[in-house]
Amino acid sequence: MSGMPQYRLDARADVVEFAPGWELVVGLEVHTELLTVTKLFCRCRNDFGGAPNRNTCPVCLGLPGSLPVVNRRAVEFAIRIGLALNCQVQSSIFHRKNYFYPDMPKDYQISQYDVPINAKGYLTLPSGARIGIERAHIEEDTGKIVHRGGGGRIASSDASLIDYNRSGIPLVEIVSSPDIATPEQAREYVSELRAVLIAIGASDGKMEEGSLRVDANVSVRPTGSAELRTRCEIKNVNSLRSLGRAITYEAERQIALYEKGEAPLQQTRYWDEAKGVTGALRSKEEAEDYRYFPEPDLVPLAPSDGWIAEIRSSLPMLPSGRRSYLLEKLAMSATNDQVETALAEPLFPFVHEALERGVEPRVAVARAANELASLQPIPDSLDVDRFVTICLKEAKGEVTATQAKALISKAAESEVDIEELIRTLGFERVDDSALRQMVEGVVGAHPEEWARFVGGEAQLRGFFVGAVMKASSGKADGKAVAAVLGELAARG
Ligand code: MN
Ligand code: ZN
Repeated sequence: MSGMPQYRLDARADVVEFAPGWELVVGLEVHTELLTVTKLFCRCRNDFGGAPNRNTCPVCLGLPGSLPVVNRRAVEFAIRIGLALNCQVQSSIFHRKNYFYPDMPKDYQISQYDVPINAKGYLTLPSGARIGIERAHIEEDTGKIVHRGGGGRIASSDASLIDYNRSGIPLVEIVSSPDIATPEQAREYVSELRAVLIAIGASDGKMEEGSLRVDANVSVRPTGSAELRTRCEIKNVNSLRSLGRAITYEAERQIALYEKGEAPLQQTRYWDEAKGVTGALRSKEEAEDYRYFPEPDLVPLAPSDGWIAEIRSSLPMLPSGRRSYLLEKLAMSATNDQVETALAEPLFPFVHEALERGVEPRVAVARAANELASLQPIPDSLDVDRFVTICLKEAKGEVTATQAKALISKAAESEVDIEELIRTLGFERVDDSALRQMVEGVVGAHPEEWARFVGGEAQLRGFFVGAVMKASSGKADGKAVAAVLGELAARG
């Protein structure tokens, strides 16, 4: 359910028009499930899938007399998220958010209200835009209603069933400031936030499984104005592509209303992927509708400075840091698809180790973004060490690029030692004198072509390189062959 975005009234520095005369104002609420072993307030397992209602107990079923106990690991993940998003991590308390929904057996959700654990941070996007983070608080997930028949919608279904496996799974809700000005920026924000959550180990980032859920607060205003008009909240958009489409549709709908002299109503709306439209779900609640009050069964959450410092020091390099690191190593000024692929999980640890051990950056990034990426999930037999060994051999010219690619796929298939793979595949390097002999042999066998090549028919280089490659059963390095050919030709 919704947090409470406290909309800021300061105008953005750079105005980007969405449509002639109109600016788009978007704030996103992202709910992420945390990768804990157990639930937020009980010891039931936090697992996706499985038989319905298997992971339940009196606490997460809301039975009378049961009491919540906070999961320390969930709090640690929440702090990791706060630190990674440059938030102020503070002492906080839990509140009860009261409303009825059949998938929430207590009739209230334990959440955080005016004193969240993380407040006032920001996330810098790859494009350089800085999006404010209002808050990132802890709360419990609800169960899940499954509508049987009728395409999964309640109105046309035959029956509705409830699965409480998800009830009480720990969530962090991350509420952005309304700083997002285009549908593309909304996608960029979610994509970068997802990468951060995965990098710090807090979430698996699976939007399709619902472990990352995005709600978008969308409004429009005349270009250059600082006002915040009525917003609509679009619930649970489950892919980046849908997010962009839903925001675009909703903004155009609101603009059309204003241009007819009408105004949108404050509503919670859903996104219909098939029809490509948003539709009204209910009029939007205000915070006071929930009758928040402090949760009497839980004590305040007061992480010590020492614990926060310990968590801070355990944070890995974040995606923005990885991006700058790779760009610096590659001597590039802007990111591209290959760099973005290489800095993501699970590839980055491979690239990082390769670079730290002296592999040429271009080789490490290319092998990770192409060959390793195509293997996902990466099998255990291809660990970081074996990957680095292969890259080092390519970087030193002991194997060619083509051979390195083949070695990566072979190393993924079995535990066989890399040196042995090189021998069995016949990838031993042809040494300089053997190579020279081979080139001379080929040249001697084709005197007529050689004379024309020396006489200036440069296109015959391909003929000779090909013939030497054939003679070496593909083991010779094309560049080395060309070099020897050039040397012999210079001598006449
Ligand atoms: Mn929520
Ligand atoms: Zn339980």
